[in-house]
Amino acid sequence: MTRDLESRAPHGTSAPGATASGTRPSGTVPDDAWQILEQSLDGEVLRPEDAGYPAASRLFNRRFDDLRPAAVVFVHSADDVAESLRFARAHGVPVAVRSGGHSYAGWSSGHGRLVIDVRRMNHVTVHPGTALVGAGARLGDVYAALDEHGVTISGGTCPSVGVSGLTLGGGHGLLSRAYGLSCDNLVEATVVTADGMVRACGAETEPDLFWALRGGGNGSFGVVTELRLRTHAVHESSSADLAWPWSRAAEVLAAWQDWAPDLPDEMWSALRLHKDANGPSVSVVAFALGGHDALAERLRELPGERTVDTIRTEPHLDTVRRFAGDTAGPADRPCYDVRSGFFARSLSAEAIGAAITTVENAPAGIDVSMAAVAMGGAVNRRPPHETAFVHRHHRFLGQYEASWDPGGERPASAADADADAAAAAAAEQWLGAIYSALWPHSSGEAYQNDVDPRLPDWRHSYYGSATGRLEELKRRYDPDRMFDFPQAL
Ligand SMILES: Cc1cc2nc3c(=O)[nH]c(=O)nc-3n(C[C@H](O)[C@H](O)[C@H](O)COP(=O)(O)OP(=O)(O)OC[C@H]3O[C@@H](n4cnc5c(N)ncnc54)[C@H](O)[C@@H]3O)c2cc1C
Repeated sequence: MTRDLESRAPHGTSAPGATASGTRPSGTVPDDAWQILEQSLDGEVLRPEDAGYPAASRLFNRRFDDLRPAAVVFVHSADDVAESLRFARAHGVPVAVRSGGHSYAGWSSGHGRLVIDVRRMNHVTVHPGTALVGAGARLGDVYAALDEHGVTISGGTCPSVGVSGLTLGGGHGLLSRAYGLSCDNLVEATVVTADGMVRACGAETEPDLFWALRGGGNGSFGVVTELRLRTHAVHESSSADLAWPWSRAAEVLAAWQDWAPDLPDEMWSALRLHKDANGPSVSVVAFALGGHDALAERLRELPGERTVDTIRTEPHLDTVRRFAGDTAGPADRPCYDVRSGFFARSLSAEAIGAAITTVENAPAGIDVSMAAVAMGGAVNRRPPHETAFVHRHHRFLGQYEASWDPGGERPASAADADADAAAAAAAEQWLGAIYSALWPHSSGEAYQNDVDPRLPDWRHSYYGSATGRLEELKRRYDPDRMFDFPQAL
């Protein structure tokens, strides 16, 4: 069937193309077969000749605008998913599973693939202590719907990220130190596996698959259609923005890394070294549940003489929206790339110096950042093998991002294409430099939601000692590798 599709691509390539031997090119699927698929679904099938296809085939990151899936299926139910998988199997068309479309490597799409998109399954139903959420709901919509009931979930900060893509690979954010990661708050999931079976997974039913989905579930085991997530009461919360002159970046990073991971659970913080056309900058954001007195007190422990120093308390949803970094509309979507590493110890003065120099020396034409996101609290209190998210002993997650403006709409003019290629090469070079500078100081683990096709041993970095059990479950639930991409289990 779809066996060995992109897993044959050499590691280090991120192209999500589908050129498998043993897989029929999707162009050979007869037109009437596509029509029969459409008629058998409640959802919709969009093919390259359809007016809605260009928008439907796009991911969040413009870097992947050239991908040409064979079709995008907007499924409306688990039965639609099962029918789509049956079609893919019968016609030898490789599949890709998509929710919010934020995959850093474009693995929720691909040339010639049948993209199974769950975005129309976006309901949010509130129950005592939990919420039943359609797998295609976006975080911003989930937070807004839950806020009407005075509750929220532990999730990420970007409002357009899909709740399932986030949760199945971990999910850190403002509340993860207080209540655990998104995957720690997953109570049940409905998943359609490669055999077309709709499986309810929880602690009692399909416990092995339920274990795998919490950290290892992004695209490898089936299509998740619904999640039941634990909710938490929230009323007001507080946020702070701090900045210093760049000349004090080393002092600030040194102080922050010894401070943020040991804050009380109800507090969270991230630090950012950033460089764009305006030059380099160092800033810290912080969050606390409730009023801001205790947070203000703790912020005094960071270096003084700040150029920005604000703190406020607001209704929780307003605080969440303040942290929502991505407001890019379809017209100004960026191109970006990312790498990551977890850190179990504070960085030495030498490593801090290397990070600062690498940010400072970033080439012109790209924006770069090194973010450090506080872990600890409830994240680290889970035993490493209770879920497939094994990164439970770290002080912070380092995330390195390079972004650039790709110019006009695709197909690009020759000049835009040249500028885009030059920026992409500069981004690649800078990410390599910051990764090399900091990787030796990291634990060797990386965040599986920050997918990085260049990782030399991604199984170890993402899944550590959970790898063996995950691979065994992959063989059990997806023996023909229906769900396959370069870093599929
Ligand atoms: C701007 C931005 C901000 C981010 N902020 C945060 C943050 O604050 N915290 C954090 O933890 N992470 C964050 N991330 C990382 C994010 O969690 C991952 O990129 C996540 O995988 C995106 O999920 P998605 O559904 O939007 O993407 P998609 O591209 O749709 O999916 C990502 C992966 O999950 C698989 N998948 C998606 N839906 C399903 C499903 N229903 N069933 C099975 N597999 C599925 C896809 O096949 C793909 O491999 C951010 C990413 C971006 C780009």
